[in-house]
Amino acid sequence: MGSFLDQGLRFTCQSGCRYCCGVEPGYVFLTRDDITRLCDHLHLRQQEFLRTYCRKVSMGSISYVSLRERENNDCEFLIETGCSVYPARPVQCATYPFWSTILTDAATWEEEKSWCPGIGKGALHTKDEIESLLAMRRGVEPAVWEEMVF
Ligand code: SF4
Ligand code: SF4
Repeated sequence: MGSFLDQGLRFTCQSGCRYCCGVEPGYVFLTRDDITRLCDHLHLRQQEFLRTYCRKVSMGSISYVSLRERENNDCEFLIETGCSVYPARPVQCATYPFWSTILTDAATWEEEKSWCPGIGKGALHTKDEIESLLAMRRGVEPAVWEEMVF
């Protein structure tokens, strides 16, 4: 990982911004642990949760479980006050913007500012914090649709 992480990076989600939870179409892929945690949080059985809140996204020969979007591209869990499942939100959401693809180098981090106005502002996240967020996703694959939905 580039040394630009050594001094930590600033990021604070900006009040009123909904950009990464809606506005544009996108995918929020769920891991098996995400599905279990969200089912517990919502008191839903897994099949009910998958059929109500999830969709199948095919990538090549594999299909993954992603959250559904509303017609306006908002996440199903986005409400006026923010994320309605915040304590149980998917790891993809909980770790943004500290993703390996965004932290490739200083330039990719700077480029992400065009999407996320919280980057470079507010709280300073130490290198250790950032590396533990990166570790949360390392080696964890999204759940495969056919293995989950029956
Ligand atoms: S794009 Fe950035 S500032 Fe906007 S909601 Fe997402 S994390 Fe927060
Ligand atoms: S689950 Fe919550 S944090 Fe993630 S995209 Fe949906 S509303 Fe946003």
